[in-house]
Amino acid sequence: MPPATPKAPRPTAKGGNTVADKLARLGLRTDMDLVLHLPLRYEDETRIVPIREAHFTGGAPAQVEGVVRNSEIALRGRRQLLVTIEDDSGSLVLRFLNFYGSQVKQLSEGTRVRARGEVRHGFFGDEMVHPVYKVVPEGAPLPTALTPVYPAGEGLSQTLLRRAIAQAMQRIDWQDTLPPALLEKIGLWPFRPAVELLHNPPPDVDENALMERSHPAWIRMKFDELLAQQLSLKRSQEARRTRGAVPLQSVGELSAAFLASLPFALTGAQQRVLEEIRHDLRQSWPMQRLLQGDVGSGKTVVAALAAAQAIDSGFQAVLMAPTEILADQHFRKIAAWMTPLGVKVAWLTGSLKKKEKDDARERIASGDAQLIVGTHALIQDTVQFSRVGLVIVDEQHRFGVAQRLALRNKGLEAENQPHQLMMSATPIPRTLAMTYYADLEVSVIDELPPGRSPVVTRIIDQNRREEVIERVRAAALEGRQVYWVCPLIEESEALQLQTATDTHATLAAALPELQVGLIHGRLKPADKQVVMDRFSSGELHVLVATTVIEVGVDVPNASLMVIEHAERFGLSQLHQLRGRVGRGSASSVCLLLYQAPLGPVARQRLSTMRETADGFEIARRDLQLRGPGEFLGARQSGQAMLRFADLETDQWLVEKARDLAAQLLAGDMDTVRRHLARWLGDREDYLKV
Ligand code: ADP
Ligand code: MG
Repeated sequence: MPPATPKAPRPTAKGGNTVADKLARLGLRTDMDLVLHLPLRYEDETRIVPIREAHFTGGAPAQVEGVVRNSEIALRGRRQLLVTIEDDSGSLVLRFLNFYGSQVKQLSEGTRVRARGEVRHGFFGDEMVHPVYKVVPEGAPLPTALTPVYPAGEGLSQTLLRRAIAQAMQRIDWQDTLPPALLEKIGLWPFRPAVELLHNPPPDVDENALMERSHPAWIRMKFDELLAQQLSLKRSQEARRTRGAVPLQSVGELSAAFLASLPFALTGAQQRVLEEIRHDLRQSWPMQRLLQGDVGSGKTVVAALAAAQAIDSGFQAVLMAPTEILADQHFRKIAAWMTPLGVKVAWLTGSLKKKEKDDARERIASGDAQLIVGTHALIQDTVQFSRVGLVIVDEQHRFGVAQRLALRNKGLEAENQPHQLMMSATPIPRTLAMTYYADLEVSVIDELPPGRSPVVTRIIDQNRREEVIERVRAAALEGRQVYWVCPLIEESEALQLQTATDTHATLAAALPELQVGLIHGRLKPADKQVVMDRFSSGELHVLVATTVIEVGVDVPNASLMVIEHAERFGLSQLHQLRGRVGRGSASSVCLLLYQAPLGPVARQRLSTMRETADGFEIARRDLQLRGPGEFLGARQSGQAMLRFADLETDQWLVEKARDLAAQLLAGDMDTVRRHLARWLGDREDYLKV
């Protein structure tokens, strides 16, 4: 047992105003919390610059020292305190818009002041507005090291934090959580010198490395933090094994008949992930597996085969999709596959009529429905399942955690949970997968079905729209179908709708010999369906669409896609959209129309689209352009739990931390416990969502 961590001053009731309360609001409850409250940045107060030179810092703050020559309260629009200080080289005004009477007294003539701030050329000469200052005696020594600046909260001064941290550093148990031999092997600094250096950097420290957090002391902290994250995620993964699930033992008649009925053979990759899933489904703890595969890689068949295993074993399978249009596509496809094999498929979405809903709910509750497809409507309280063995969530990142949990908890009796299969066409780069998804097993379909021809992508200036319309005409007359995607207008859905309607009218007028359809998010689901049906059947030549077609739409004969104002779309969105073509054997083309001039980021996005069709590569570049927070939402990315490490720049550390986490969990639980106690304390629950 490691000795209990001594406690910092105990916070009183919530919202109180003692120092301890203020610290607690920053999450600083124990001495160790304080010690691990590391500086945000450092300030260089080791030098004083002559006042004359203070404005040569290029915007960075400068520190000057001088004697007050004049102090006055002026009324320049607003009451303010103007204090002129002077050294051998010149003078400077310190300007305070908010000040106390005590300050006026303190800064009276003849006082020596050390002030730090940004120097501006004001109307009355050089000035510092609201500088950080202190009154000093002549010849007061300068700090010899950089001054740490801590993340602070309201009412907590740096001085106070510094003192609290310094005191905590006297009290904690410094024992390293990691054995020296391990540290040496990985090339890490020991804990204590690392922490001490970060709080009190010595004068000769490599300033840049400190500021950029590439200093070995920072590396140790980041590593520790990542290790704690990995350990914690891995532990919750193990905890899952202690929960129960019904083993779905039988890969039987239905599975075999379904495979036999498919007009194609599974790809090697599909085969492989299917085996992984089948194995998991046979276990008596719940599967939690993410099935990743690029758009068009054939995830749906695999999901259907998983469902078949549940049904073969006498349980229901549920498939939930984020939109009606996607749920509907799944329903039709799966019903077309399964109904002829005698499977009873039910369909439940919000837009059904009351009678149809009641009907569906009844069939779901009685167990008559074996395979259930739908939207969020499935997780409403009124829906009772009979015996769910498997829950499949498509495009899982579009659902909140709560929604996924709700579906999972709808399963069987309390002690058993359904197996979960999550599908995503948004490939998650490796580092993110190792953090956000550390709790999931991941299966990847890394091969497209044969016979797909690559999509040729061209980037075209919007003012060549006429030519593009001619290409659309030519393609349609050759019997190919065309998607025309309208610009994304994030600020206004109404405007977006308007644009789509206008575009439809323009194209219909320009292409009188063709049938041009329109689909957008505001159409009623039934109307959307009518349009999609007309397009699928080939009756419509051109489909003008908003991004509602982004996911899941599958019309193999469509082989030309035009995207207007492509510069407004994100990379993964463009990739998803483009994935709607190139699904048949005809060679496909995607035309990205842009409005000049292109900004640098938009330019990079578009050239990425031209250069590669590989979803993983695109995701990698997307991550580079946007950062992990935006990529997945800050919370999901796992970055939210990290204070020091940066998932982007510290990838290599993530990998090392993950390897060590696996090693420790396999054989050194003492170290695991020590490390988690130090880094997470009672916060571990936060990770278990
Ligand atoms: P996604 O991974 O994007 O969900 P789908 O499951 O919709 O992909 O599959 C895309 C298309 O490829 C569908 O028309 C599907 O029937 C077809 N398909 C799936 N697997 C194969 C295969 N092994 N061989 C040929 N076509 C396949
Ligand atoms: Mg799909």
